[in-house]
Amino acid sequence: MLLYSYKFCILLSELKNNNFYKYILTNESINYINNNYIPGVDSKPNYYEIALRELPNWFNSNNVNTNGAYVCSCGYWYTVPPCGYPTTIGNCPKCGEQIGGTGHMPVIGEYHMRIFKDQQNIDNINYNFYTYNGFKYMIFDDFKVFCQDKLKSNEIKGIYSIDYDLFINETKEVRKLSTISYRLLNFIIYSCIHFSNILGFLTEQQVEKFIPPFTTSFQIIEEDWNLLKKALFDKEIQNPQIFLNVIIPELLELIKQYENFETIEKRNEFEEKINTLVDKIYKKKKNSRI
Ligand SMILES: [Zn+2]
Repeated sequence: MLLYSYKFCILLSELKNNNFYKYILTNESINYINNNYIPGVDSKPNYYEIALRELPNWFNSNNVNTNGAYVCSCGYWYTVPPCGYPTTIGNCPKCGEQIGGTGHMPVIGEYHMRIFKDQQNIDNINYNFYTYNGFKYMIFDDFKVFCQDKLKSNEIKGIYSIDYDLFINETKEVRKLSTISYRLLNFIIYSCIHFSNILGFLTEQQVEKFIPPFTTSFQIIEEDWNLLKKALFDKEIQNPQIFLNVIIPELLELIKQYENFETIEKRNEFEEKINTLVDKIYKKKKNSRI
């Protein structure tokens, strides 16, 4: 595993200048990570999307006259049992902002809101009667409209530190990448980050912002390797080493074409080419029964 991680870094550092991956292995590393749409890393999760998906079910299976649903300014939703009015302040597990409240008074945050099932829900508990110091609230139908803007794009430059559970999730969809393409590209970028850190181009603090909380870059490449192996095995490719040896020459040719990924289109184009290449190698290998 480490051998291949190292191999990629050696091959990439030997590329001519003006190459995205080569820059990750120089003192330009942090600038290149932060200013490009990185191939093979997860998009920032959209918590509004999750709230829209999960709230209807929650409204239908809970007593909305007692329990209450709230959303943080980042879109993360949470409940306040048993009465629906907060009595403790905590930090949002997703963005760190204050959520909850004290003495039944919710913390005021830009888009920190209580969401009601419908107008009847508001009327039943006479919520309109209390102003709660300007605290925002809306019914779910209005929340759907409010979310339209928030759902448009999660694309960010750089790398967003996702939760470990999401990182290892084997059924998630990362743009149009196949599982093998995603794990392969993820393995390559985290190998570069890992060695850039060892070489002193990235600090521990900088690396921490790119990996799931409480993990190390070494753990991430190890996990990527295991999941890549598993994805290949599912496609009846028993030996990841042979697969990599076969794919590396053409993969490097593709990588050489990109000086940067400053636009989403460029990143997507590269990812599509990786998908096509992985497919081609897979078919080739299948026919030769390696
Ligand atoms: Zn939040």
